[in-house]
Amino acid sequence: MLREINLKYNSRIMEKLSVEIVQKGKLLVELGKVSKDLDTEKRVYFSVEGEEEEHSVIFEKGNKEWKCDCKYNSLHNRLCSHIYACMLKEKLI
Ligand SMILES: [Zn+2]
Repeated sequence: MLREINLKYNSRIMEKLSVEIVQKGKLLVELGKVSKDLDTEKRVYFSVEGEEEEHSVIFEKGNKEWKCDCKYNSLHNRLCSHIYACMLKEKLI
């Protein structure tokens, strides 16, 4: 269920992803910086160890939205490397 939803979401946004985001995201997963904390009925919670601080990434199952507390995501509403890393970790992309 979660997998199908994300694949649809991904196809819409993947073309907008910069190489930098993709590379950073892959590195975060390779270095073991991503952990899935909690999977509830409505949300999935992840934590990602960033360069300066730890970020909280949340996947809302209801509206299929990913959110991260970093500046890049909250200010620009763009998919950040932390969200990308979580998608990668969950094998959604
Ligand atoms: Zn982020």
